[in-house]
Amino acid sequence: METYFLIIFFILGSIMGSFYHVVATRLSNDESIIFPGSHCTNCNHKLKWYENIPIISFIIQKGKCRNCNSNIPLSCLIVEIITGALFSVCFHSFKLSFDLIIALIFVSSLIIVIVSDIEYMIILDEVLVFSTLLIIVLYLIHYIFFMDYKEGLVELMVNHVYPGIGAFATMYGLKIFGDKLFKKESLGGGDIKLMFLFGLVIGYPLSLCTIFLATFIAFPISIYILFSDKENIIPFGPFLSMSAIIILISKIDINSILNFLIK
Ligand SMILES: [Zn+2]
Repeated sequence: METYFLIIFFILGSIMGSFYHVVATRLSNDESIIFPGSHCTNCNHKLKWYENIPIISFIIQKGKCRNCNSNIPLSCLIVEIITGALFSVCFHSFKLSFDLIIALIFVSSLIIVIVSDIEYMIILDEVLVFSTLLIIVLYLIHYIFFMDYKEGLVELMVNHVYPGIGAFATMYGLKIFGDKLFKKESLGGGDIKLMFLFGLVIGYPLSLCTIFLATFIAFPISIYILFSDKENIIPFGPFLSMSAIIILISKIDINSILNFLIK
């Protein structure tokens, strides 16, 4: 049964991933998400349903448009596979639960953040605002289901909104400190706004752990990029987002990290 669900969630994730790639690309270019429908960005050829199957269409068409033979970005395929995999892992971590819904929304918004930040150096406000509000409303509904309205609101504030504000404020403080230290913009506005979402879902101290984990992941990659003289500016948002996803799905808690450090 578990395997059956893992496959279902992979397929669901790859379909959503295909959509998230479109969202990230179109919103970054100020285009509508809905119109026009899926098309080749080179020749505007409208995709038939069988040209629009996540992963499979890309492989069958060998990554090329069937009409004009231009290359379909490899990032489409990568995002489809990674989203599928992450949806499966989320199911594995949270089973069919309320936390799974939150995890899927969180991961989804971060995938869009990663794609738009890598490809366009933008963290889209629309995506952050939409997912943040959706998650707050779901938490509130969840709490009210078990307790009365007032108690639910208190739980929401204490467990999610305050940690979000704390993470946001800490990151903002780090930015001011970093700007003074390096005499230039050290962190983008998007990176700071991301922290509210992190605090909301993974809590206050853990959301700050993403900064350390992100620096750790980014370090070898930054060295590589610096020496391969491709592009000198490396967005930090994708590393923060990857770290937040890792912390969320590994269900690690702050106490086990502290225990590990003390040992
Ligand atoms: Zn084409």
